[in-house]
Amino acid sequence: MPSRLRREPRPDTLAVDGETVSIRRSARRRRTVSARFEEGRIVALVPEALPAAEERRLVEQLTRRLRSRETRTGDAELETRARTLSARYLGGRAEPSSVRWSGRQQRRWGSCTPSTGEIRISESARALPEEVLDYVLLHELAHLIEPGHGPRFWAELAGYPRLERARGFLDGVSFAQDRGLTTPTG
Ligand SMILES: [Zn+2]
Repeated sequence: MPSRLRREPRPDTLAVDGETVSIRRSARRRRTVSARFEEGRIVALVPEALPAAEERRLVEQLTRRLRSRETRTGDAELETRARTLSARYLGGRAEPSSVRWSGRQQRRWGSCTPSTGEIRISESARALPEEVLDYVLLHELAHLIEPGHGPRFWAELAGYPRLERARGFLDGVSFAQDRGLTTPTG
């Protein structure tokens, strides 16, 4: 029965705990499944060859893990973290009025409004290593002191020991995104 060999077309979304997760399948992806936030929604990247049941199991697992990490770090935790960073590296001179996660930012990791003291950090930044997220926060905090990107701005950040590493990391992420690089998994 040749029809049994034909792969059933699969939907490109899965409902997990009432939430719609977008599924992006790739023939080039061999083994690893990953999930991340894109514009506030969860997107799972899966190998095309994965059997449907296994795909569902892994997507559910990753979605729940991502969501539980999110509830652990809500806006209040983010704001506390920002204030701690300001105290440690900026002498407490950056005093944000609010620090929030934002699902609406697509192209930037963070933004701030110096006139109101509001800082917004992209949901996508949840996936960054801790030290890089700290840099993203510090960057926006420093803008409350110095709006531009001149020497005075970078002098404010000079005390953060992982500065160059974090900037290099984000440059690498942008580079990979711009050129459609994917991780070789062979
Ligand atoms: Zn900036």
